[in-house]
Amino acid sequence: MHLLIDDVQLWDGTGSPAQSKMSVEVRDGRIHWVGAASQWQGNRANVRVVDGRARTLIPGLMDCHVHYSSPGGPEWIARFTDPLPEISMRAIELAEASLRSGVTTARDVGAPQGVSIRLARAARAGEIRAPNIRAAGTWIAHRGTYVSFARQFGEADELRNAIRTEIEAGVDLIKVALAGWNEGARPQDAPDIPFDKKLLAVTVEEAHKSGFKIACHANDVTSCRIAAHAGVDSLEHGMFLEAGDLEAMAKNKTYLVPTMSVWDAMLYYSRSVDWPEARRKRAEDLRQGSRAAVTAAIKAGVNIALGTDAGGGAARHGRIAREAELMVECGMEPGDALLAATSNAAKLIGEDERGTIEEGKIADMVLLDANPLENIGGLRMIAAVFQDGRRVA
Ligand SMILES: [Zn+2]
Repeated sequence: MHLLIDDVQLWDGTGSPAQSKMSVEVRDGRIHWVGAASQWQGNRANVRVVDGRARTLIPGLMDCHVHYSSPGGPEWIARFTDPLPEISMRAIELAEASLRSGVTTARDVGAPQGVSIRLARAARAGEIRAPNIRAAGTWIAHRGTYVSFARQFGEADELRNAIRTEIEAGVDLIKVALAGWNEGARPQDAPDIPFDKKLLAVTVEEAHKSGFKIACHANDVTSCRIAAHAGVDSLEHGMFLEAGDLEAMAKNKTYLVPTMSVWDAMLYYSRSVDWPEARRKRAEDLRQGSRAAVTAAIKAGVNIALGTDAGGGAARHGRIAREAELMVECGMEPGDALLAATSNAAKLIGEDERGTIEEGKIADMVLLDANPLENIGGLRMIAAVFQDGRRVA
């Protein structure tokens, strides 16, 4: 496919300001040429021309925290134990919805029974319409502290085995759960600290030794403190992170993936489906804890990558624009929110050939009928989505 996106405002994700009147030529799935529209030398009769006027072209978006096995919504945890055929079929639909919203790469950070690994393979083989997926297999959690379908361990040796089993199953990264699920799924008699410092150090050593990154679910004061100091690659959720934790994260180059869409969606459901007062109050507390942490993380210079937790929390799929809006509400510049959703996310995921619009890179791009640098909500105004140089939405 030979394509020219012509006369467009280009925000390329490299950190340079947007440039107007640019053109981008795509050949065989890659970005072949980028330059001033007036400088393009080719023959218009030989390319498919896409009108870029009054539009902005950005790199394909990356959602660093999704669960395609579940649809989100007010009863999101129950959906994880739906019958496997239903989970599998639904995952294909949800991945496509995500792609249509501009997500060309996603990290699926936990699914029952290896569904995400199969989904990632089908996507890679071009058999389904889905983002480029990096799958974490299932969650690894201390016995009795997390949902029943996580991979459970007791002692350090069993933990090492759990990581090796995930790697053998074909995962792209390791996901560990340091705290209970956000609706208090932790049983009454479970230990307060599911992973102590020592067990998390074992995890980091075992995964990094095999070249795998670790995403770490932490959503209370204790688990955030342990995760922030452990040298994991990303800390997911991160409500109630404190100043010392953020300092450690900046020093360790640990990414924060805030997933603020979850609390935003929960608050909405608390009104629209009449949750009891205590549950509504909890959602409000989590939301405030999350916003405070993100605002402080921005000031502390912590690397931030965008993740919605669509499916895994209350948030539904295909709403990545909302997460970017929430980041801007917490004090991020729109351009920085876009970096969190493109090139910074690519660095966290380890996608060297994606995340920016530069010659030679894979042609994953989103064309918008808006300028998201003026109003980040413009991410909803999708004119086209290109994946590997092909138009997919
Ligand atoms: Zn999640």
